[in-house]
Amino acid sequence: MAPVIIAIDGPAGSGKSSVSKQAAREKNFGYLDTGAAYRALAWASLNLEGFGLDELDSKDLNREFDYSISIDPDNYWVKVGSKDITEAIREQEVAEFVSQVARIPAVRTFMKSLTHKIVAESGLPGVIVEGRDITTVVAPDAPVRILLTASEAVRLKRRSAELSKSAAASVARQVTERDASDSKVVDFMTPAPGVQLVDTSDLNFNQSVSAVLALIEQGLS
Ligand code: C5P
Repeated sequence: MAPVIIAIDGPAGSGKSSVSKQAAREKNFGYLDTGAAYRALAWASLNLEGFGLDELDSKDLNREFDYSISIDPDNYWVKVGSKDITEAIREQEVAEFVSQVARIPAVRTFMKSLTHKIVAESGLPGVIVEGRDITTVVAPDAPVRILLTASEAVRLKRRSAELSKSAAASVARQVTERDASDSKVVDFMTPAPGVQLVDTSDLNFNQSVSAVLALIEQGLS
């Protein structure tokens, strides 16, 4: 049987990665971070020959972008070819560039089929797939579709909790700019029809996980 997809979207700092990961652990499901593939392609564009922004549109990414990611929530890694880029894709340079890669229509089409391929090959009963357009474009038929949000103030606070004041200000600027740029391509701030909204502004981590797990149980029953 094909693995079931639990689709979770949300903006940066909504807690969707950590909440999705924990929900996956509790369900013994896979956890797929789709933003990592966009980041990996942005990394390739910055570092590899033949992946320039103007080349991505016409490139056969299926054949030429050798991407792999772990969907084990307890052992996360991202590779291009044999190179581990788990840390590199979190660098500021990549974060600032990724939206430009994500707005190329051919890239989005490729990412959709890549996501389905990773899920299909998982060998698991289910995969929690997290991103920006999973509930609307990638898996609009998923039995559970959730939009995880939080107020902007809370999201920026979560993102900068472990940083110095000046670093926090720069991350805040970066996250706000990236969301603004991304939201021109997909609307991940308002739930599409049939998508359930979980606002985590007033929820702690465990409460957010419980809210998501309750919706999963409800959707799969
Ligand atoms: O989730 P994360 O912040 O790592 O995503 C990185 C970038 O990938 C986003 O800023 C966005 O440009 C892009 N993205 C997307 N659609 C997705 C997931 C991520 O456009 N489903």
